[in-house]
Amino acid sequence: VEQAAYQNDKMAMLGKISAAIAHEIRNPLTAIRGFIQLLRPHLVHLGKDEYARIILAEIDRANDIIHEFLNSSKPSAPQKSKVSVASLLKEVVLLTESEALLKNCQMVLEVPEDGYVSIDVKQIKQVLLNIIKNAMDAISEVEGDHKGVINIKAEVDAKHINISIQDNGNGMDKGQLGRLFDPFFTTKEKGTGLGLSVSYRIIKNHRGNISVDSLKGAGTIFVITLPIVS
Ligand code: ADP
Repeated sequence: VEQAAYQNDKMAMLGKISAAIAHEIRNPLTAIRGFIQLLRPHLVHLGKDEYARIILAEIDRANDIIHEFLNSSKPSAPQKSKVSVASLLKEVVLLTESEALLKNCQMVLEVPEDGYVSIDVKQIKQVLLNIIKNAMDAISEVEGDHKGVINIKAEVDAKHINISIQDNGNGMDKGQLGRLFDPFFTTKEKGTGLGLSVSYRIIKNHRGNISVDSLKGAGTIFVITLPIVS
């Protein structure tokens, strides 16, 4: 309970700060982006197109971070609709397949055709994409010619649906596991540490649960539990 209260305080503060500054940063970034694009032909002419490419990519990255901050600041009551878990997971796999291919990851989906949930599709998709992206990152952290596998499995019982996402990536130790859902906790050079704290909140807003188990050097499993609808 204490952990949850602490997390909520931190998220509320994050929300206020981000809403206040995001707007002020976005506008100049948009101007910079526009002028770099205008300069681009000249830079190409000088053989310096690489500089333009890097500037644009970094501006886009800054915009992505602001976007994530804003997302995490929204009070976001879920806009629920009834969807089949099978179609939801198939679509998520489809969305991640090209990146998986690039990263030498095999995606394995095991999902029953029955099973309906009442969810905010956009939000739950965001959660699943966050977790799958993290799994791919964890797989690419493993040294050598590692064949990554991401198993996505859904199981339906009388009241719940359990969706598990298991990877054979680099895994986490106890210390990392304990801080995983903290806002800003990241071990990545280009991470924001917001993906899982936002995911945690989304799942709690759906009256669901999210749990994780991991073994350093072996892999990680996330399990999301959501109430089913008949
Ligand atoms: P970010 O991806 O920006 O770092 P997240 O909140 O999504 O932010 O994740 C926080 C941290 O949790 C990651 O930096 C990583 O250390 C750890 N993590 C998350 N998922 C996994 C996973 N599947 N395997 C290993 N570590 C993970």
